[in-house]
Amino acid sequence: MEKINVAILGYGNLGKGVETGLKNAEDMNLVGVFTRRDPSTVKSETKAYHIDELANFKDKIDVLIMCGGSKSDIPEQGPIMAKDFNTVDSFDTHAKVPAYFDKMNEISLQNKKVSIISTGWDPGLFSINRVLAQAVLPQGETYTFWGKGVSQGHSDAVRRIKGVKDAKQYTIPNTELVEQIKNKNHVEYQNNTAHKREVFVVLENGSDQNEIERQIKTMPDYFADYETTVHFIDEQTMIKDHSGIPHGGEVLRLGQTGNEGKSLYGFSLDLTSNPEFTASVNIAFARAAYKLSKANQYGAKTVLDIPIAMLSKHDGEYLRAHML
Ligand code: NAP
Repeated sequence: MEKINVAILGYGNLGKGVETGLKNAEDMNLVGVFTRRDPSTVKSETKAYHIDELANFKDKIDVLIMCGGSKSDIPEQGPIMAKDFNTVDSFDTHAKVPAYFDKMNEISLQNKKVSIISTGWDPGLFSINRVLAQAVLPQGETYTFWGKGVSQGHSDAVRRIKGVKDAKQYTIPNTELVEQIKNKNHVEYQNNTAHKREVFVVLENGSDQNEIERQIKTMPDYFADYETTVHFIDEQTMIKDHSGIPHGGEVLRLGQTGNEGKSLYGFSLDLTSNPEFTASVNIAFARAAYKLSKANQYGAKTVLDIPIAMLSKHDGEYLRAHML
């Protein structure tokens, strides 16, 4: 079987998750891990290279899975990488997705590449389900709940604040609202009233606790619109109580189908490891990026633009016989 050659850019939680997940992708070959750090300091199972060496791999990589942080890595690296590689990323700053799409679309079209942006579970599988639920239940309301779980994007954003040594951010849903919807009652819903945010921070020595709390609580797109609680803890407590990265949530749509009452559409995820699951989604979309590129369907795409069969390692005949 001809294998799809993929590479990982950025070796954090997500990068490690992709490396692990690729072991279950028999149609893919991991060419290497690329990092901004000294590769000898990166403890990957696969050979690590410095990001500058990517230039030597232009013809050896079919799809580059970009695993950097959404706050500053992906917006910077995406437009550079889209010149030379088909890419997949998990960019999850929802408010900035349209502008990022436009930029990636322009560059990848110019260079005859495919860039699948914002894959993962939200944006990602949740987005697909929001669109699907609305399409089949046009009369109704869609509600998204996240958590309780660790948001990697929000944790990453806090870790980027000067003076923060480590941070974990939990998103906590309003379970009363969830129950009301599941009992088929419409509710008043806004992201920021349906969730709270709780942040655990380990400070660097000598940093200003009040100033860091202020910077977290006022951070636009991430915390400014939410009820946010910040706890300062020591490194041991962080390791003991907050080492896991669980997450999950649900997309619910309550809709009227006709005269016979309401239908509830639900899609939920309960993830022991957010990065490993997100990585699994990245890998499936890397397969689609490869197929799109082979079909000369260049440009930026989101998960909403990709036929589902392109995510599968199986062909149409198999899918019609076994999955339809
Ligand atoms: P992370 O662990 O903080 O890693 C981000 C980058 O930081 C890595 O690519 C790595 O780049 C660098 N890094 C990691 N460990 C480091 C260390 N010890 N020292 C110095 N640099 C280090 O972030 P993550 O948890 O993998 O999450 C990445 C992004 O995925 C998040 O920002 C989030 O937006 C996104 N995400 C999306 C979804 C979704 O559903 N769409 C779900 C989950 C996550 P280098 O190797 O180049 O240094």
